[in-house]
Amino acid sequence: MNIIKTDWNWAYGLSKRSSTKYLVLHHAAAQVASAADVHRWHLAKGWAGIGYAFYVRKNGAVYAGRPLDAIGAHSYGYNAISIGVCAEGNYEFETMPPAQQKSLTELVAYIQKKYGNKLVVVQHGDLMPTACAGRNYPFKAIKGGVVADKLVKAGEYPLLKDRMLGYVLKELDGKNPVSLKDALGFRVTPESWGDPAKRLAWRISGRLAGVEQTAQPTVELYEALKK
Ligand SMILES: [Zn+2]
Repeated sequence: MNIIKTDWNWAYGLSKRSSTKYLVLHHAAAQVASAADVHRWHLAKGWAGIGYAFYVRKNGAVYAGRPLDAIGAHSYGYNAISIGVCAEGNYEFETMPPAQQKSLTELVAYIQKKYGNKLVVVQHGDLMPTACAGRNYPFKAIKGGVVADKLVKAGEYPLLKDRMLGYVLKELDGKNPVSLKDALGFRVTPESWGDPAKRLAWRISGRLAGVEQTAQPTVELYEALKK
């Protein structure tokens, strides 16, 4: 992931955050908008300039906005304790292009790492009543996708497929007896969980089996894993 730096002209000085709790994901609510467009819009609101720390275009290009440690302007009431990341597009009705989703996934992991994997990743609408980042925004994938990919990388965990097969089978039987930790045979760090651990299990299983991730374990998933 390459981060494109721009020398933004700030209308006034930025202040630094003293603590950081949230990483807030937004959409631009505009189908086409450059980082410079957003900077201009935010200046017009009387703000210092682009309010996000990062802006990701549909082609996957990642632009640095405000310095990562600066207070942003993106989530009223939470700016002093959060980092804002915005995606070009309107994900209330559009579908996110894969290149953009990939960059956002990498970017979230990159920021998390800088903050010791302690940030709570949320969508704007989790903090206040707003449709942002849109109902089609692939939040769970962006939040938890990196780990699944890492785990699935060939050869990294040779027993993973067998273990997930066993896990899926037991889920299908309604037994649900093993924790994901036991199924995987190693600890997965909390930052990777996204939502309930099971979602990660389906994601991993889907990647291993080469099928779409499902919300539930399915016979198809099991059959695909067996191959
Ligand atoms: Zn927003």
